[in-house]
Amino acid sequence: MDTGLSGDESEAGSVSGLSLDEVARRIISCQDCSLARGRTRAVPGEGPAKAEILFVGEGPGYHENQQGRPFVGPAGKFLEELLASVELGREEVFIANIVKCRPPGNRDPLPPEIQACSKYLDRQVELIGPRMIVTLGRYSLARFFPGQSIGKVHGTWRESDGTILFAMYHPAAALHQQSLKQTIEADMLKIPQALAQAGDRARNRDPEEPQPQQLRFF
Ligand code: URA
Repeated sequence: MDTGLSGDESEAGSVSGLSLDEVARRIISCQDCSLARGRTRAVPGEGPAKAEILFVGEGPGYHENQQGRPFVGPAGKFLEELLASVELGREEVFIANIVKCRPPGNRDPLPPEIQACSKYLDRQVELIGPRMIVTLGRYSLARFFPGQSIGKVHGTWRESDGTILFAMYHPAAALHQQSLKQTIEADMLKIPQALAQAGDRARNRDPEEPQPQQLRFF
């Protein structure tokens, strides 16, 4: 059976100890799953090394595979509009993906591909240390909100080890389903609020106090 993984996992190599640039270089030459065979360019992700917000999409599409950069096609254009609505430029946030190479024909990434690639995102999260991670779509949700459904948790957030996890639909969903556009736009507008509320909580936290309502929900 083809597991999608090639070679020995230990051979695939640990990325702990690598810098952000070294992680990107390792991704560009990665052969750890079968997606490597079909890619034109791997897409490590981009943004400030100490970005406050990390957006995590699913995986490169046609345009990203051509250019080696995340969210540069139609979904990226919408993401930039969403960022502008909260007065952010794309250069101010880090943008990455669950898988770093394009699944053929834009199919969904397979579990062994997600597994083989997870070490890269884990290391990126560790190095960037973002205040907030925004999940874009189902695959990113599954990584950070395991067991949750996007229809239920989009536009909500929780905190995990001091990081705010904020769930959103994938921007491409609005391109396929016009009715979701306003929902996605409204969810994006909650991001500054979530950052401010989490900041207030951190400042006012009494260790004796029970966890706030929203945290109990998850
Ligand atoms: N969709 C994604 O999930 N990621 C990209 O980089 C582009 C489109």
